Amino acid sequence: MNELKNKILSLKEERSALVLAHYYQNLDVQDIADHVGDSFALAKLAQKASQDTIILCGVRFMAESAKILNPAKTVYLPADEAGCPMADMITPEDVIELRRQYPEAAVVCYVNSSADVKAVSDICCTSSSAEKVVRALDQKQIIFVPDKNLGAYVAKQIPEKQFIFFEGFCPIHNSLTESDALAAKEQNPNALLLVHPECRGQVLSHADYIGSTAGILEYARRTEKKDIIIGTEMGVYEILKRELPDKNISIIREDFICTDMKKTSLEDVLACLEGRTEPITMDTELMDRARRSLERMVDVG
Ligand code: SF4
Repeated sequence: MNELKNKILSLKEERSALVLAHYYQNLDVQDIADHVGDSFALAKLAQKASQDTIILCGVRFMAESAKILNPAKTVYLPADEAGCPMADMITPEDVIELRRQYPEAAVVCYVNSSADVKAVSDICCTSSSAEKVVRALDQKQIIFVPDKNLGAYVAKQIPEKQFIFFEGFCPIHNSLTESDALAAKEQNPNALLLVHPECRGQVLSHADYIGSTAGILEYARRTEKKDIIIGTEMGVYEILKRELPDKNISIIREDFICTDMKKTSLEDVLACLEGRTEPITMDTELMDRARRSLERMVDVG
């Protein structure tokens, strides 16, 4: 394993490659990355990258966003089959139909979506920037796609705007039930429950903190409380377990895993560095249209 890691690290330098990994990636992949972050942080890093090549260890929409934001670079998605089931729930035609029904509304598109869907939206957002993005818009009516749970959470913070939701969701976070939250709290009554807003409202109602992946990590590091239940993907639990051995970190449900995020292996990363994988390619006009939505999001911050 060490030999493989060392090979990757030296090839990375040689090929002028930047390796970016999402927090939900396997720890061995995170260990060889230049930066580990949530989708918003990775998008900003990709946009500013000076290296010739970007290897995005995550799922397809993340690699697409990196390519769109920095089109001159060669961008690789190491595990070609790593997709996002939530992104696959919505098509550009669905957005166009919603626009037809609500012509006054602005379309806010969660970054967990395909480039085609971003291209027909007004602005993108991440879970950490969604509220700020919606507040920054002049429109009173907001079509929020594709995640109905994140949309409902944002709508609660901004009651003065009217929201129209699409019936999309993250199958992982949406699978969490109120009973899961109650069972985890019953097992550890003194623990704080930190939850991602892609979860259902009934789960969020039992949370001590609701925030993005980066927000949850930050909260767990800062709080003086020792007992913490992680209500997001297993990767976050693994990072904190390793990083905070003095705290009692647990995961809300043992099978809380995004299998797509776990598809990337070190061998896949090596294959990109050795040119044995096809880079991401997209139609220029599609990229230009999707870039407008992504850049507006990055500008809002
Ligand atoms: S955790 Fe959910 S939203 Fe994130 S990549 Fe997996 S399926 Fe998609």
